Amino acid sequence: MSRFQLPASLRQTRNYVDGEFVATAKTFHNICPVDGAVLADVHEADKALVDRAVAAARRAVEGEWGQADAAERARYLYRVADIIERRFEAFLAAEVADTGRPLSQARQLDIYRGIHNFRTFADLAKVANTDFFETRLGDGTRLINYVTRKPLGVVASISPWNLPILSLTWKAAPALICGNAVVCKPSEETPSSATLVAEAFDEAGVPAGVFNVIHGFGPGSAGEFLSTHPDIDAITFTGESRTGTAIMKAAAEGVKEVSFELGGKNAAVVFADADFEAAVEGIVRSSFTNAGQVCLCSERVYVERSIFDRFVAALKARTEALKVSWPDDEGVFMGSLISREHREKVLSYFDLAVQEGATVVTGGTVPVFGDERDNGAYVLPTIWTGLPDDARCMREEVFGPVCHIAPFDSEEEVLRRVNDSAYGLAASIWTTNLSRAHRVSPKIHVGIVWVNTWFSRDLRTPFGGGKLSGIGREGGRYSLDFYSETTNVCVKV
Ligand code: NAD
Repeated sequence: MSRFQLPASLRQTRNYVDGEFVATAKTFHNICPVDGAVLADVHEADKALVDRAVAAARRAVEGEWGQADAAERARYLYRVADIIERRFEAFLAAEVADTGRPLSQARQLDIYRGIHNFRTFADLAKVANTDFFETRLGDGTRLINYVTRKPLGVVASISPWNLPILSLTWKAAPALICGNAVVCKPSEETPSSATLVAEAFDEAGVPAGVFNVIHGFGPGSAGEFLSTHPDIDAITFTGESRTGTAIMKAAAEGVKEVSFELGGKNAAVVFADADFEAAVEGIVRSSFTNAGQVCLCSERVYVERSIFDRFVAALKARTEALKVSWPDDEGVFMGSLISREHREKVLSYFDLAVQEGATVVTGGTVPVFGDERDNGAYVLPTIWTGLPDDARCMREEVFGPVCHIAPFDSEEEVLRRVNDSAYGLAASIWTTNLSRAHRVSPKIHVGIVWVNTWFSRDLRTPFGGGKLSGIGREGGRYSLDFYSETTNVCVKV
C-alpha cells in the first residue's frame, strides 16, 4: 500500500459521460511513481463510450449551453472553481499521488492554476469585445462590418501527465466559456485530478454533456477513438511532438481545427553581466523543477566563457544540495519521475550522453534510499558538459532533470546556437544589461522568452511554440479566438 492515497471516490476511477460516472469492463492500474504501489483501477473507455461522450457533447452544444451567453456560462465556471477550492486538499492528494511531484510545489502552483483557469477565462469572456469596422467604397457606398463569435462545437482535449490539472483546465476553461462542449482525455498516467474536476462539474449542476472525461491510452484506445472521431470539431492537444504528428494526421480527415502545445529543447543563456547568484538559482529551477518534466524546462544552458568554470562549479554545488525525496518531506525539491517506463527513457539518454562524449558533472544515476522509494521512479538531477551542438542529447527532448552547460563567446554566436534547434517553445536569458535583454529576446525563435526569471505566467498572454513545439497560441483572447468561430456581418447602410 502506498503512503500516498487517493480520495475514496477515485479508487475505482470512472469516466464521466453525459452527466454520469461510467464504469467499464476493462480496467488498468494507476501506479504511484513514488513507490510503485497500485493507487486505483482506472476504467478504460471503449469506442462505444467515446461515441456516447461525443454525442452527449453535441447535444449540449446544440442545447442551452451553446445558446447561453458568457455571463451565464461564467456562473457555472465560478461554481466549479469554488468547489475545487473547497476540495483543495483532495485535489492536492490526487495530484501528488499520481505524479510524485513535491507536495509544497503542487500546493503553491497546480491546484491554484486549476482554479484560476476557470475564474480567469470566465472573467475574460465576460468583457471580451469583437471587432467593428466602418467602410466607404469607391462609389460612396457606406458599410458597417461587425464580427460575432460562435462556439466551434465539440472540442476534443487530449492532455499529458506533467502538471495534469493545470493543462486540463487550461484548455477546458476557455473552450467552455466560448460555448463549446468538451470531451477530455487525460493521460493514462494521471487520471485522478481530471476525474475530481468531473466531480466538481457534477456538483456544480453543469448541464449533462457539457464536460466529459474519458480514460485510456493513445493508439488503439480512447485517445485515438477521440481524435479520429468524425463528429468532433476541433482538437486541442498537449503532449509529445511525435504524438502531435499522429493527431494532426487524424485531424486532416475532416479538416478539424488544431491547437498544439508540444515538446521543447529549451535554451537558457547566462551572460557574464548577470546577477550570478540569481542566475544559478534560476537555472536550478528551470532545469530541475518537477524533475525536469515541464515542457518549458531548460535542457541547454549557454554560459559566457569568462564565468563558465565558476558557474559550473556553483551549479554543481547547488544541485548536489537539492533534496530528492518523498514528495511530502520537509524541504524536498525533487520527487520521482512519472513512471518506471519514463525513467528507462531518461536513463537511456544518461547512457547516450556518455557515449557521445559528455562529462557528467553530477548525477547520471538512480539514487538508492533503502526503502519503498527504491520501487519508484527516481533519478538524480544531472549536469553534463562537453557535448558538441550536434549530439543527440543536445537536440532531442529528454524530459528529465538534466541540463548541458556549454560556454559561448559572443551574443551573435549564442543566438545562432540557441536558434539551431528543431524546437521553438521557450528560452530564458540572464543579464543585467537592459539593452541586451531587449535586443536579444525578440531574436530567439520561440513562443516565450523570460528575462531574469523562468516559468512566470500571466494567463492573458499568448502561450505556445513554433517548429516542433506546436501550432497556434492559447491564453487570454488568443484562447477565445481559437475556441470560437467568427462570422463577419457586412451591412450596407
Ligand atoms: P504524449 O504525447 O505521450 O501523451 C499525451 C496525451 O496524448 C496522453 O493523454 C496520451 O494518452 C495521448 N495520446 C498518445 N498517443 C495518442 C494518439 N496516437 N492519438 C491520440 N492521443 C494520443 O505526451 P506525455 O508523455 O504525456 O507528455 C510529455 C510531453 O508533453 C513532452 O514532450 C512535453 O514537452 C509535452 N508538453 C508540452 C507542453 C506545452 O505547453 N508545449 C506542456 C506540457 C507538456
